[in-house]
Amino acid sequence: MNTIDPVCGMSVESTKASGQETFQGKTYFFCSTHCRDEFKKAPQKYTSATAKPAGCCGGHAH
Ligand SMILES: [Zn+2]
Repeated sequence: MNTIDPVCGMSVESTKASGQETFQGKTYFFCSTHCRDEFKKAPQKYTSATAKPAGCCGGHAH
Protein backbone atom coordinates (compact mmCIF):
# COMPACT_ATOMS: atom_id res chain seq x y z
CA MET A 1 0.00 0.00 0.00
CA ASN A 2 1.33 3.42 -0.90
CA THR A 3 0.95 5.93 1.91
CA ILE A 4 2.11 9.45 2.67
CA ASP A 5 4.61 10.14 5.41
CA PRO A 6 2.73 12.84 7.35
CA VAL A 7 5.92 14.45 8.60
CA CYS A 8 7.75 15.12 5.35
CA GLY A 9 5.07 14.41 2.76
CA MET A 10 7.06 11.75 0.96
CA SER A 11 5.17 8.77 -0.41
CA VAL A 12 6.11 5.61 1.45
CA GLU A 13 5.39 2.03 0.50
CA SER A 14 3.99 0.59 3.73
CA THR A 15 5.89 -2.67 3.36
CA LYS A 16 9.16 -0.72 3.07
CA ALA A 17 8.50 1.91 5.70
CA SER A 18 11.23 2.55 8.25
CA GLY A 19 8.70 3.02 10.98
CA GLN A 20 5.02 3.11 11.75
CA GLU A 21 2.84 4.54 14.45
CA THR A 22 -0.84 4.26 15.23
CA PHE A 23 -2.56 7.44 16.34
CA GLN A 24 -6.31 7.83 16.94
CA GLY A 25 -7.00 4.53 15.22
CA LYS A 26 -5.03 5.31 12.07
CA THR A 27 -1.69 3.83 11.16
CA TYR A 28 0.93 6.12 9.68
CA PHE A 29 4.08 5.03 7.88
CA PHE A 30 7.36 6.89 7.79
CA CYS A 31 10.31 7.15 5.43
CA SER A 32 12.74 7.08 8.33
CA THR A 33 12.95 6.59 12.07
CA HIS A 34 13.68 10.31 12.27
CA CYS A 35 10.24 11.12 10.85
CA ARG A 36 8.64 8.58 13.16
CA ASP A 37 10.31 10.18 16.16
CA GLU A 38 9.15 13.62 15.06
CA PHE A 39 5.62 12.29 14.73
CA LYS A 40 5.73 10.73 18.18
CA LYS A 41 6.76 14.06 19.70
CA ALA A 42 3.68 15.85 18.35
CA PRO A 43 1.29 13.60 16.44
CA GLN A 44 -1.50 16.15 16.48
CA LYS A 45 0.78 18.57 14.65
CA TYR A 46 0.93 16.22 11.68
CA THR A 47 -2.62 14.89 11.69
CA SER A 48 -4.67 18.06 12.07
CA ALA A 49 -6.62 19.29 9.07
CA THR A 50 -4.30 22.24 8.68
CA ALA A 51 -1.09 20.24 8.97
CA LYS A 52 1.32 20.64 6.09
CA PRO A 53 4.39 18.54 5.54
CA ALA A 54 7.35 20.76 6.28
CA GLY A 55 10.28 18.61 5.39
CA CYS A 56 12.27 16.39 7.64
CA CYS A 57 15.61 14.82 8.34
CA GLY A 58 17.35 18.18 8.72
CA GLY A 59 15.93 19.44 5.46
CA HIS A 60 17.72 17.10 3.09
CA ALA A 61 15.94 16.21 -0.13
CA HIS A 62 14.44 12.78 -0.35
ZN1 LIG B 1 9.92 11.43 6.10
